[in-house]
Amino acid sequence: LNKVFIDALPVLDKLNTAGFEAYFVGGSVRDALLGKEVNDVDIATSAFPLEVKHLFKKTIDVGIEHGTVMILSGNNSYEITTFRTESTYQDFRRPDSVTFVRSLKEDLKRRDFTINALAMDREGIIHDYFKGKEDLKSRLIKAVGIPDERFNEDALRMLRATRFASQLDFEIEENTVNAIKKHARLLEHIAMERIQIEFVKMLLGRSKNKGLIYFIETDLYVYCPGLDRQGLEGLINIEEDFENELQIWVSYLLLSSLKFNQHRGFLRSWKLSNKMIQDIEIVYNTIQERLHKQINVKTVYKVGINLSLETEKVLDLLGYPSNLGLVESTYNSLPIYSKKELAVSGSDLLKLTDHNAGKWLGDLLEQIEQAVLDKEIENDYSQILEWITDKQLIPEQKE
Ligand code: ATP
Ligand code: MG
Repeated sequence: LNKVFIDALPVLDKLNTAGFEAYFVGGSVRDALLGKEVNDVDIATSAFPLEVKHLFKKTIDVGIEHGTVMILSGNNSYEITTFRTESTYQDFRRPDSVTFVRSLKEDLKRRDFTINALAMDREGIIHDYFKGKEDLKSRLIKAVGIPDERFNEDALRMLRATRFASQLDFEIEENTVNAIKKHARLLEHIAMERIQIEFVKMLLGRSKNKGLIYFIETDLYVYCPGLDRQGLEGLINIEEDFENELQIWVSYLLLSSLKFNQHRGFLRSWKLSNKMIQDIEIVYNTIQERLHKQINVKTVYKVGINLSLETEKVLDLLGYPSNLGLVESTYNSLPIYSKKELAVSGSDLLKLTDHNAGKWLGDLLEQIEQAVLDKEIENDYSQILEWITDKQLIPEQKE
């Protein structure tokens, strides 16, 4: 048994001692059986949420209406979810209400894929009602039960299948993949935030091409906003792995046939945060500059180190010349990192004249900033004052 499971044993024991069943479930069991690193465990129990709350001193209601209670044990926190069924599906989305049950098998039956429907007890014994271990061995993603029904219940599962194909480097079982082809359109009913999470996880997976090919061939992409085949096939040609979401979106914009004035709307329709959209646009624009211009002080200063490095990484992903080292050294040799670091401030300048603050002041600070960045002068109070006096850059006294 892996350490994360051992650490959590007291939690299972407490539930067991009180007469309830309790198991490790879901991704942690799957990943442990695959010999992969497991970082957190999910626990399922026959105890109802209030019964769980009675047993543990420190609990947090994270989703009690869905049966999930978070408990604190030692230095760790665990999510304990009551066995449940999800019978009342409307609109092909996840259910609006759940029914708590006392049977493990009922709980596992509502899970998406056989490899995600495994439970492990405190002795390390695997409870496998849907041949999940067999599918793990054959490296297959297979719906629990009848695929058509399962995708009708929750259409997001189709996208999750492509996500797991990519993350695990698994094939999707034939009946399951055929059902996805048939029902791809149901994705239209799913909230964009949920789609976006799975899409990004797919592209960050170690076999992104496997996931992408399913995503394209099942037509799932058709029901995601603004995606075109050209852009997605461009992503397939990228050999290295994406490190983060930003790199995915910038690469996609560069490869797709979307016009520049459509970018903002496209990113908005994927419900990306304003900050993410802003960063994507900065990196996109910096790449356009880099396609005909070397790395330079001004751009690295303006864009900052992180997005400058991302720019080089995306250039590299797309097969253009790039130079991470030069970005680093250019950044490290900058005399200042922001206007605030100038040795002279706006109020210093105002003391030299009886004019009020105005546009001239901002312009002057910008000139100073530029001269310092160009290393025409050092970022030093008296040098700056000497320079502006020489150049007569301060407005004359009124009388
Ligand atoms: P990850 O390592 O990415 O967290 P995971 O398998 O733990 O993978 P989660 O999204 O965290 O995936 O879900 C936990 C478990 O809940 C799954 O293993 C699966 O049993 C069940 N599950 C999650 N989403 C669905 C869904 N849409 N339909 C049915 N079961 C689901
Ligand atoms: Mg998980």
